[in-house]
Amino acid sequence: MSDFDYDLFVIGAGSGGVRAARIAAGHGAKVAIAEQYRIGGTCVIRGCVPKKLLVYASRFSDEFEDARGYGWQTGEPVFDWSTLIKAKDKEIARLEGLYRANLNKAGVAIFEERAEVTGPNAVLLKSSGRSVTAGKVLVATGGKPSLGEPIEGLEHVITSNEVFDLKKLPRRIAIYGGGYIAVEFAGIFAGLGAETTIVYRGDKILRGFDEDLRDGLSEAYAKRGIAIVTNRTFASIEKSGSGLIGRLDDGSNIEADQILFAIGRAPNTVDLGLNAAGAKRGGNGHVVVDETSRSSTETIYAVGDVTDRVALTPVAIREGHSFADSTFGNKAWHADYEMIPTAVFSTPEIGTVGLPQHLAEEGRAALDTYKATFPPLKATLSGRDEKMLMKLIVDGESDKVIGCHVLGADAAEIVQMAAIAMRLGATKADFDATMGLHPSAAEEFVTMRERWIAPGEAAG
Ligand SMILES: Cc1cc2nc3c(=O)[nH]c(=O)nc-3n(C[C@H](O)[C@H](O)[C@H](O)COP(=O)(O)OP(=O)(O)OC[C@H]3O[C@@H](n4cnc5c(N)ncnc54)[C@H](O)[C@@H]3O)c2cc1C
Repeated sequence: MSDFDYDLFVIGAGSGGVRAARIAAGHGAKVAIAEQYRIGGTCVIRGCVPKKLLVYASRFSDEFEDARGYGWQTGEPVFDWSTLIKAKDKEIARLEGLYRANLNKAGVAIFEERAEVTGPNAVLLKSSGRSVTAGKVLVATGGKPSLGEPIEGLEHVITSNEVFDLKKLPRRIAIYGGGYIAVEFAGIFAGLGAETTIVYRGDKILRGFDEDLRDGLSEAYAKRGIAIVTNRTFASIEKSGSGLIGRLDDGSNIEADQILFAIGRAPNTVDLGLNAAGAKRGGNGHVVVDETSRSSTETIYAVGDVTDRVALTPVAIREGHSFADSTFGNKAWHADYEMIPTAVFSTPEIGTVGLPQHLAEEGRAALDTYKATFPPLKATLSGRDEKMLMKLIVDGESDKVIGCHVLGADAAEIVQMAAIAMRLGATKADFDATMGLHPSAAEEFVTMRERWIAPGEAAG
């Protein structure tokens, strides 16, 4: 019999926390979980899932246009934001119910209130004032949008927390940020018909991604009428009669009905009590953990976005699962961070796995790049002026495929499968020996024969 109320107390019922709680309970541990907002966490309630639903909604405008080239006569399509948001809310509530049911089924006690750590084995439930003890505490509190330096009028902006519940579709929206969340919302709002401007302090969107993807998407967005204002920051924001005026650092103004700040996220550790329990935090507030997800306090663990490792849902889930198996299931393993595929659900979409060219070049004697840019078959009849980009980066010595990048329809679906082959160490010769699936865009990856020669290289 344990001296504690629970073997495991999980703080945060998001991707990582829910998985850890269910698996630990499955191993026979007595588990409780606390959630201060809604069960399911960021991904389900105000992240990946509702975002992808909005992405689907935004892409119908292309479909209506493209359909004409294929003989369809359609009337002027009409979009209704409140119908979309109502349907989205219903689906999110259904998913939340599933998460709750699964926790119940696993025998996990649920506390729907904020929890804070008060000691290595102690947690305080804030609204009920109840104190509980646990053999182990798992911090899975995720992250929240950062607003950056305080500026005048910051109270007028929205973040990804509010954007899913807007009462109406903004006619004009300015989106601050150049990362994947900013870029995805730009695609969503432009597709739904809003006049969309991205304001970014850097010189090109999607820092860290392969340059060809960054250039390709910037071009595609320009063609779609999305304005990208680079090397600019917001200096202040004020209300005007018809909406908001954002003043930029060069003195220029942007008028919009909504200004969405998507400039980064910070780990949710403020006032969480980690200092009192002796669990160290890093520079941006994240919980510092070792590869087993243990913090500097032996009984306190952390998984997911709050650890600032790789802020993606599948990663949080794996970390939660491995923690529970290793700690309560006598099956020690940890998450493998090699070849994590990721997507940007812009329109056109990006899928990417492995190294971008600039990182692949670092410290490598030989590198082969294969690139194809072509109009997708669908565009022939629809007349859509958009190109698909597919790129493979191959280690010149081992012939292993170390980078795979796609810009275009279904990029995420294509790259998920390429990631399996690449994790298994597939070489370019393996790709070449694989039969193509015709007609598809993905077959390009098994038919690329010509090494891409950079302009300077050709001359040399
Ligand atoms: C707009 C957006 C789009 C995204 N799109 C994608 C995508 O397409 N693909 C992808 O892989 N990832 C995506 N992500 C990232 C993904 O949502 C996160 O990586 C994932 O949710 C992290 O899971 P987690 O368990 O660490 O934290 P979360 O899912 O954030 O869960 C943490 C939970 O803890 C709760 N909590 C916090 N503090 C306390 C406390 N003191 N007491 C009780 N409860 C507390 C929070 O309310 C929250 O429910 C997106 C994120 C955003 C914001």
